[in-house]
Amino acid sequence: MKLDLKRVAEYIRKAETEELLDRVTVYRDGMEPAALDLMEGELDRRGITRAMMAEHGAARRARAILLPDGTAMRCSFCDRPAVRQARGWHRLFGRVPVFPKVFAYCDFHTKPKTGDGANEGNKND
Ligand SMILES: [Zn+2]
Repeated sequence: MKLDLKRVAEYIRKAETEELLDRVTVYRDGMEPAALDLMEGELDRRGITRAMMAEHGAARRARAILLPDGTAMRCSFCDRPAVRQARGWHRLFGRVPVFPKVFAYCDFHTKPKTGDGANEGNKND
């Protein structure tokens, strides 16, 4: 399988810093080495040091659900690492519940839809 490095590079340039940090840390083992080089290069360009990368990885690992291969479980709704699992219903067409399923939720998606107020996610900086 040949990696289209040009397209990967283009994608990386547009990617959010948080996403790149996740990929070079908790998702590292699932990444192509060439893609990792590009991502680390891009993070360097954005002024993110290796120490900051390591810190991000440690913070993620402290909260994320880790899989047996050492990478983080992904949120069921986005690419962020999951921090919580809960039962829900798999819904057909997004509406009709067909079978129970365990969903994974990241920090962003972890908040159940029960009004607002409680614990507005303060992003760590
Ligand atoms: Zn999510």
